[in-house]
Amino acid sequence: MQNHHVTKLEINLTALKYNYQYFKSQTKPGTKTLAVVKAFAYGLEPTTLANTLEKEGVDYFGVAYAYEGVKLRENGIKTPILVLHAQVAHYKLFVEHLLEPNLYSIHTLKKFLAFAKENDLDNYPIHLKFNTGLNRLGFDHSEINQVIELIKNNKNVKITSVFSHISASEDPNEIEFTEQQISTFKNIVKQLRSSIGNIFFVHMSNTSGVINYPDAHFDMVRIGIGLYGFGNHIKETEKLQNVANLKSIISQIRTVPKGESISYNRAFITSKEEKIAIIPIGHADGFSRPLGCGNGYVTIRGQRAKTVGNVCMDMILVNVTDIYCKEGDEVIVFDQQKTVEEFAAICQTISYEILTAISQRIQRVFIK
Ligand SMILES: *Cc1c(COP(=O)(O)O)cnc(C)c1O
Repeated sequence: MQNHHVTKLEINLTALKYNYQYFKSQTKPGTKTLAVVKAFAYGLEPTTLANTLEKEGVDYFGVAYAYEGVKLRENGIKTPILVLHAQVAHYKLFVEHLLEPNLYSIHTLKKFLAFAKENDLDNYPIHLKFNTGLNRLGFDHSEINQVIELIKNNKNVKITSVFSHISASEDPNEIEFTEQQISTFKNIVKQLRSSIGNIFFVHMSNTSGVINYPDAHFDMVRIGIGLYGFGNHIKETEKLQNVANLKSIISQIRTVPKGESISYNRAFITSKEEKIAIIPIGHADGFSRPLGCGNGYVTIRGQRAKTVGNVCMDMILVNVTDIYCKEGDEVIVFDQQKTVEEFAAICQTISYEILTAISQRIQRVFIK
């Protein structure tokens, strides 16, 4: 059923294209770009965004799980899809939809090789991830000989790429650690190439890696948050265009006399008469509770209206005592990256979480 919710996430496809081209311009010609569209494209919307990026010529898509890739295929995406957190239980789905698994452990590699043999696959594209310091998914350097032993001369699969992930690409205090990761990765690639040949391409950088470590661009870069308008620093973010605008309306306005309480748990008591607007977005929609009680705000007719009292599941209350407005008026929750960053700081989190928390209940609309 079509989503008719009055709270809308407007997605600017022109800004998305701009950001994609911006990152393209930051890498050497010939460097591939993988657009990371996991988790509903960071909470925005995956399929229209992927379609737009495919038309821009993106080389790869990255998703976390197979079913995210299935959704892209069902919507006509033809571009290769790398599944970053491939699960053994999903291998059948991979082959049915031509999704390319990241194999990151001896267990997953053995399982996939057995599956490939059983199903008589021919040169099926797989990707190998090595751990170089993040200590999350990936083979350890010490497992390299075992990996080589397993994949050497295997005709069921094709080692399409080898990759790693940087722990702190955005952090200027961790340059030394990052350089060490890059150098370890180069050694891993060299060792692999000397035993199985130069048959695969390599990649390591996320958005901040692209900005901070040109030496780690290799053959492809993996861009997530940057496409959606956020760099690793305010100066970098300023070079990008804003993609996501979260908008709502005023459902009701009420005048609350002096000495009354507002919203759950009576967290706010009026010290004078206040005019309060009720907005249909709540913590179930990603408007997080720490933004309540005057910490967060919305913008109505160009003026800031702070939250009053606790954030509810489906709504917030904001103070419009000094704002001329009426029921049905437009409310801007955010329409620039700066506000998202501010909300993230208030919630002691990062822009990624503010975006991915925007619930599926909110309507997605696209502007060009
Ligand atoms: C999510 C993810 C990315 C994208 O990171 P951004 O910081 O959003 O650019 C890149 N690579 C891997 C392995 C990821 O999981």
